Amino acid sequence: MKVTEHWKRAKGKTLLSFEVLPPLKGGSMQAIFKTLDALMEFKPPFIDVTYHREEFIYKKRPSGYYEKTAIRKRPGTVGICAAIMHRYHVDAVPHLICGGFNMEETENALIDLNFLGINNVLALRGDARQFEDKFHPEEGGHQYAIDLVRQIMAMNQGIYLDSNIVNGEKTDFCIGVAGYPEKHYESPNAETDFQYTKMKVEAGSDYIVTQMFFDNSKYFDYVAKCRQENVAVPIVAGLKPITKKYQLTSIPRKFYVNIPSDLVKAVEAAKDDDAVREVGIEWCIQQSKELKAAGVPGLHYYTMGDTETTRRIAEAVL
Ligand code: FAD
Repeated sequence: MKVTEHWKRAKGKTLLSFEVLPPLKGGSMQAIFKTLDALMEFKPPFIDVTYHREEFIYKKRPSGYYEKTAIRKRPGTVGICAAIMHRYHVDAVPHLICGGFNMEETENALIDLNFLGINNVLALRGDARQFEDKFHPEEGGHQYAIDLVRQIMAMNQGIYLDSNIVNGEKTDFCIGVAGYPEKHYESPNAETDFQYTKMKVEAGSDYIVTQMFFDNSKYFDYVAKCRQENVAVPIVAGLKPITKKYQLTSIPRKFYVNIPSDLVKAVEAAKDDDAVREVGIEWCIQQSKELKAAGVPGLHYYTMGDTETTRRIAEAVL
């Protein structure tokens, strides 16, 4: 079922959903099942599975020179989605990125998803590769997420890249895109970034999932701005609890979001790792409760493989 259909059927009730990462190459599906087995009692309408493009590693050759090799450390997104749907009868949302794909490969990936009965997708650009200063599209690939949205929308109308295909099967993808209450890091300002997100919706996206935030006022302001500018699609709140002290610096560096002073003070005052985790869980519970009381359509938790923490939060919020 389309993700948007779940919100329609929920009739204003806030739904909880989760995002999981494919295991590192060589790892087992059991790790994902273990995480999800523990979260199914919260009846998530859908589970997102992230996509990870190849990274460069340097291998020392016998000659002493280093060889640059590209490897994908976390493959398996599509297979995991199919396995989730098969095992739990819950919708799976694969993340699809522009990076590393030309348009033909994107089309083929979408055909695979369609044939597997997966009709939800989160359309993203992806980040710059490690050691590259900015995002470079693949030759013949997309520069921005909006271009990916347009390609999916074309397939939804039965239009494929090969113009010889007439009466091509119309796919029926429900498309989600990312939104940034605290703006995307490359954008010169919030207004410019917002206008590009608005364009993604006008191009056919059905809903927005936000980048994580720790201050609900950022989310509320963002939703107000969207509504003021006639962006009417559901806006799902992306949430992640802080569980380690070092995240006070690693999260802002990696995700370009602010951490409120009260949370910083509480984390800094915590005497050990367990105490930090308690602070993070409590903060996330309070955030979730306030968002739920405000009637958000969805709370979407970035689990990062930490089942127990996610469970504690979901239990308190449901
Ligand atoms: P875009 O919407 O293309 O925006 C990228 C930048 O370009 C922004 O600064 C925007 O303002 C600007 N821009 C957009 N359109 C235009 C235009 N037409 N002209 C000029 N400028 C423009 N990454 C992964 O690799 N795998 C994942 O699974 C993954 N999952 C994610 C899930 C969520 C909920 C979020 C919020 C992010 C996720 N990311 C993932 C990270 C994401 O790929 C990065 O944040 C990336 O840098 C931007 O992706 P985007 O889709 O927002 O890009």
